[in-house]
Amino acid sequence: MPQYPIDKSIREIWKLYPVRIGGKSLSECHSKPTILVQSMEGGFVTRNCPECGSQATLPRCTFLNEIDLWVACPKCKGQMEKRIVGTNYAFTCDRCILYIDLAVKTTAIVDRRQP
Ligand SMILES: [Zn+2]
Ligand SMILES: [Zn+2]
Repeated sequence: MPQYPIDKSIREIWKLYPVRIGGKSLSECHSKPTILVQSMEGGFVTRNCPECGSQATLPRCTFLNEIDLWVACPKCKGQMEKRIVGTNYAFTCDRCILYIDLAVKTTAIVDRRQP
């Protein structure tokens, strides 16, 4: 299944209107609701403390069962399904046979904060 290429200009628009995706947890250090951040190249997503940027892993079951993101397929506009593609969390559309990494979404619409 090929990854859908996201146009550069769309990424720029996403950066102008950043939306944070909640990590469904409180950070251990500051007890603040965590946000999802792309931490490394290659599509790895962690949930970070919004105060200090400390990172924690995003459990598979949290992504699949708790993260509440309605992602429309760029082709058919239908709701995409959450799934693990390779080792990455992704959204897939079986009708159009394509996927988008969760990391693409978080990089594009969430500020990249490094600790
Ligand atoms: Zn913290
Ligand atoms: Zn589709």
